[in-house]
Amino acid sequence: MSSPLPAPAEIVTRFAPSPSGLLHLGHAHSALFAWQQARAAGGRFLLRIEDIDLGRCRPEFEAAILEDLAWLGLDWEEPVRRQSAQLADYRQALERLQKRDLLYPCFCTRKEIQAEIARAGSAPHGPEGPLYPGLCRPIPPQEARERVAAGEPHALRLDMARAVEMAGDLLWLEQGQETRAEPESLGDVVLARKDIATSYHLAVTWDDALQGVTLVTRGADLLPATHVHRLLQALLGLPVPRWHHHGLLTDDSGRRLAKRDDARALRTLRETGHGPAEVRAMAGFPGVPAP
Ligand code: GLU
Repeated sequence: MSSPLPAPAEIVTRFAPSPSGLLHLGHAHSALFAWQQARAAGGRFLLRIEDIDLGRCRPEFEAAILEDLAWLGLDWEEPVRRQSAQLADYRQALERLQKRDLLYPCFCTRKEIQAEIARAGSAPHGPEGPLYPGLCRPIPPQEARERVAAGEPHALRLDMARAVEMAGDLLWLEQGQETRAEPESLGDVVLARKDIATSYHLAVTWDDALQGVTLVTRGADLLPATHVHRLLQALLGLPVPRWHHHGLLTDDSGRRLAKRDDARALRTLRETGHGPAEVRAMAGFPGVPAP
């Protein structure tokens, strides 16, 4: 069993929003959480813009994020890393995995995947819905290479069974608690999307390592993804951080806050006369940052 590293000497945290909408109170909670963890330990706080979803991310949202976070009273190290500018890095990571024969091209459309899941009847489910049913996994390598060379659109998927076998048992520390990695529950995840040669799992894991993040903090909704990230760290030979997944803010009726919930957008709160200290308190951090 490969053990997680001992607690690092320096705490480095980050807030990594996607500029696909305005920040709301839930994001403020996440950002303040990461900021406070770093500050309380005399560590460093980073901001990273996760803008690989080219269809949904917009420069004006990125500008709004920077402005809203500064208004909230946060500061971060420069330069801010922007994922869409790091594709060469992600290619390097993909090549490492490719060399170990851990990736395969997937030519499926969403429709084909859905049809296969419906046909199979009892498709295995993960925390985020039905798993990829493996349609492209058995394509002979030569045929796959030819289709790729002919320019057929494809994603790259991780051969999960092979990856897990190669990595062996893995542990990670969630709030100091040893947790066994169970990445199989997410199936053959996409590591390079059809439209951009990376994915959330790949980019976030690579960047956290490259930027020296030692404590990954984020909402509990992303906890299932951590199992895959721990596996990728092992496969890519990356350092292993610690994790703290925090609870999610809910609205008055107990529903999770969503980006589309404009009433709780920091921008709206600000425009309707709320000050930064009040918004920090609404986000669960009264008295932070300390005056
Ligand atoms: N970019 C992700 C999001 O906005 C968060 C990534 C992370 O914290 O790991 O949901």
